[in-house]
Amino acid sequence: MVRTSGKDADDASSRAADVERLVSDIDLAPYLGRVADPTATPLTDPVPVSADTPPLLALRDLVADPRFVDMFARALREADPDFRELFPRDASGVLGRFVRAMTWALETVENARGDEAKVAEVVEFARHLGADHRKLELSPRHHERFGEAMTDTLRHLAGRGWDDRLATTLGTTYRVLSTALQQGAAAAQGPARVGATVVEVLRPTRDVVVVRLISDVMVDYHPGQYLSVLTPYTPGVWRRLSPSIPANPAGQIEFHVRDVPGGALSGSLVRGVGVGDRWVLARPLGLLEVDRTEPVRDVLMVAGGTGIAPLRCLLLDMMRHGFNPRVHLFYGARHPGDLYDLPTLVDLAATAPWLTIQPVSEQDADPWWAGPRQELPRTLHRRQTGTLVDVVTGWGSWADRQVLVSGSPEMLRATVNGMVAVGTPRENIRYDRP
Ligand SMILES: Cc1cc2nc3c(=O)[nH]c(=O)nc-3n(C[C@H](O)[C@H](O)[C@H](O)COP(=O)(O)OP(=O)(O)OC[C@H]3O[C@@H](n4cnc5c(N)ncnc54)[C@H](O)[C@@H]3O)c2cc1C
Repeated sequence: MVRTSGKDADDASSRAADVERLVSDIDLAPYLGRVADPTATPLTDPVPVSADTPPLLALRDLVADPRFVDMFARALREADPDFRELFPRDASGVLGRFVRAMTWALETVENARGDEAKVAEVVEFARHLGADHRKLELSPRHHERFGEAMTDTLRHLAGRGWDDRLATTLGTTYRVLSTALQQGAAAAQGPARVGATVVEVLRPTRDVVVVRLISDVMVDYHPGQYLSVLTPYTPGVWRRLSPSIPANPAGQIEFHVRDVPGGALSGSLVRGVGVGDRWVLARPLGLLEVDRTEPVRDVLMVAGGTGIAPLRCLLLDMMRHGFNPRVHLFYGARHPGDLYDLPTLVDLAATAPWLTIQPVSEQDADPWWAGPRQELPRTLHRRQTGTLVDVVTGWGSWADRQVLVSGSPEMLRATVNGMVAVGTPRENIRYDRP
């Protein structure tokens, strides 16, 4: 032990006081990620609130104001330090979805006019969302702070138009919704989130990675479902990805991810993923499945790019059944060399007489800058050139089939609309909304 003399102790305490004074003079807020209270200064142009507008619709107008997302993001960061980790740095995507959900909820309750089924639909939606939000591990305190930040932001946007009527309506609405969210979370089964380790990374094309992981415990998803995934490449950004192999007790899981230019996560994932990385997987969801109710209808599958993942998962699961309906799979991409999963699909078709693979590409040849490609296997049906929707509808309406579609938002829109236009009953088409 080192003894200090009285003088040393005095020097030390005077130095500590100096440091304290110095630190108290420095504005640490910017270094701590703090921002000035966004609601401190009144707005020069608040959102006009008319006393004639029903309060739920006035709140909707406030939430839909273009300034809301930015102000709310800052208010949330101020409200609770946890929100800085829970929301990505650029929270515009997730809060944009919150605005759409809130707008729908407020309008639905306003238009319900006593119709309890309509109000119950909103509460049910909140319960589903709550079950999905388990992955965020929110406490009642988070719900409370979220509500306070929203109230502050809306009050600020309304300026002098804010009154007791709006405050009471918002208080009641938020209480109902956050109670339903918490009930949904409490009722959900299975672990809220499961860790997984990357064990292998394959790069079949310049912009697609196939990532193989082993999860700490088995995630029990149905073939065709997707999982919410959190990766270390873009903190706080959850994205949905579809396993391309069925769940198994060893916890092996595989995802196919394409780099979407300008996207928040996919580019950094495709460039940065490596063996040993830890991912977080949450609750399986999704509507893609092969309906086996009698009389079993034949299946049409339409996959664009990495949209092949959930459909290939369904095919692998079907291989375990003794009897299967006929499946026609149209697998499309921009260039022939982007059809990276064709070798596996051809292998499957070789042992599955019920499966027919039809490759499709928008361009007839690979561009020079794509570099050398693997030699694609020959399929029974020669590759066709065109968009998936044109090629698929070129064969007719497929009205007697159950149709499963998976791909980018643009591909989904074009394919579903195009098929409905040529006579495919909309209710026969299954896909997961972007
Ligand atoms: C149910 C479901 C399952 C999914 N499964 C997979 C999967 O297995 N593999 C996979 O790579 N992706 C999958 N996605 C897409 C994935 O969730 C992300 O949206 C995608 O990786 C882009 O994320 P990002 O953060 O880079 O871009 P974001 O910041 O989310 O989006 C940027 C822009 O790109 C658009 N966009 C999103 N996805 C695509 C796409 N695939 N092609 C073109 N534009 C797109 C968005 O609409 C937005 O305008 C799935 C999406 C859903 C809804």
